Amino acid sequence: MPLYEYRCAQCNQEFEELVSAKDKQSPSCPFCSSTRTEKKISLFGGISGGSGESCGNSGFT
Ligand SMILES: [Zn+2]
Repeated sequence: MPLYEYRCAQCNQEFEELVSAKDKQSPSCPFCSSTRTEKKISLFGGISGGSGESCGNSGFT
């Protein structure tokens, strides 16, 4: 299972969580138990892309 980085929108702490590909629910924050956590996209999307693909349907929901 991949290891994802999350950031809590409640207390702004960052943590790592093992999440399966099927599990689309965000894990609860280990610091404040809030479920308002968002996954940090690290390797996907154009971080330093210069090919102009950032206007596609990559990371939007
Ligand atoms: Zn939190």
